[in-house]
Amino acid sequence: MALDDGEVPAIRFDRVEKQFGDHVVLHDLDFTVRKGDRVTLIGPSGSGKTTILRLVMTLEEADGGYIYVDEQPLTHVQRGGRRVELKEKHKNEMRKRIGMVFQQFNLFPNMTVLENIIEAPVHVLKAPKAKAVARAHELLEMVGLPDKAGAHPTQLSGGQQQRVAIARALAMEPEILLLDEVTSALDPEVVGEVLSILRDIARDTDVTMLIVTHEMQFARDVSNRVLMFDGGRIVEEGSPEQIFSNPHEQRTKDFLSAVL
Ligand code: ADP
Repeated sequence: MALDDGEVPAIRFDRVEKQFGDHVVLHDLDFTVRKGDRVTLIGPSGSGKTTILRLVMTLEEADGGYIYVDEQPLTHVQRGGRRVELKEKHKNEMRKRIGMVFQQFNLFPNMTVLENIIEAPVHVLKAPKAKAVARAHELLEMVGLPDKAGAHPTQLSGGQQQRVAIARALAMEPEILLLDEVTSALDPEVVGEVLSILRDIARDTDVTMLIVTHEMQFARDVSNRVLMFDGGRIVEEGSPEQIFSNPHEQRTKDFLSAVL
């Protein structure tokens, strides 16, 4: 995808390779996400989508190639033909700019909802506690849980826990929000409430979103670009209208006919 002159992309993958043991999961992967883009990654299970999010979140490291956020290297650079790891301090600075919401919520079970949301702003961003608390209440309002600040995660439904996880990710004011199958662990009747909040966030903020989902209608509504993966490679990319209404590649057609 072409960038405008001088445009700095939110995320850039440059010949990224990732393997687990001798299983190559991502092959020489190049792609660029523009600031404010909402990019959905689709494709069969095992095609490498979650690995891409985990690489951006620095939960995994690439074996080859480079990943840039805002054109700054995420974890390592090439110097004199050698791979050089960047300092932990740099990696932590980069991590602060990225939020992730997981399939399994991953809330801290021994903390209240409020404590979950203010934990990173207070301890990582060093925000004043009163300010973090005020922002947490605003975020709880935004995700439709204004009266749950004092609850513990186990007292909440799956949909409510996921809404808290979204509030927690946004409390870091991330430039990039990674959403990994955020509705897959939910009962069908609460999927809609979580997707509706994400639609609001997409409408009301300019956060860059990289989304892995099996909810094709959501992908269609929220994203401006769709990348279709198979076997760790991009098979096809385009607007949601093109990919969902007029896919060109046989593998995209087969995948969509299996999931739609
Ligand atoms: P997707 O999100 O498209 O389903 P993933 O990125 O989760 O695909 O996985 C891609 C491949 O990498 C799969 O074959 C998966 O089994 C493998 N994989 C992912 N994480 C690990 C890991 N930590 N150890 C070993 N293999 C892994």
